[in-house]
Amino acid sequence: MSSIRSRAPRASSAVVRRVMQANTGRETRPEQIVRSFLHRRGLRFRKDLRPIQALRCAADVVLPRVKVCIFIDGCFWHGCPKHFHVPATNSEWWAEKIEANRIRDRRNNKILKRNGWLVIRLWEHQITPTALRRLESKIGARVSSGNRVENGFRCKLAANWIVHRKKSAAGMV
Ligand SMILES: [Zn+2]
Repeated sequence: MSSIRSRAPRASSAVVRRVMQANTGRETRPEQIVRSFLHRRGLRFRKDLRPIQALRCAADVVLPRVKVCIFIDGCFWHGCPKHFHVPATNSEWWAEKIEANRIRDRRNNKILKRNGWLVIRLWEHQITPTALRRLESKIGARVSSGNRVENGFRCKLAANWIVHRKKSAAGMV
């Protein structure tokens, strides 16, 4: 069978067209929220980077030193169980397309994990203050064990984060 892409229908409804246009790789609002939160918490990271150069899979936020990658998944394109509904037009194509995306995400997760990465996926609808705190503590746990990740090298990132946490506990920031 020919590739999903080659069978792509034309944007047939205003809704679908909007979704397709929104998927142009521009920084989306949920990503912005996550990035500025992490930055405020003293964490430094790269954005839109492939954790593994040879793997065609860029993460929204990457902390290379501690091997953490974060994906903020759009509810439509990644097939969120809560919010994804197959569009009424060209429904067969869309169902197949989104299912293929899901399979690709799972496969990439597996490859990244196998290569020592901590993979964190958040749905765009999940970006709440609670989720952000949970995210920070996941990264924090990883940073604290940084000497294991980095062979005894306690990286600058860990130092930054720990200083920031102390300041924030002391009400300084
Ligand atoms: Zn959702």
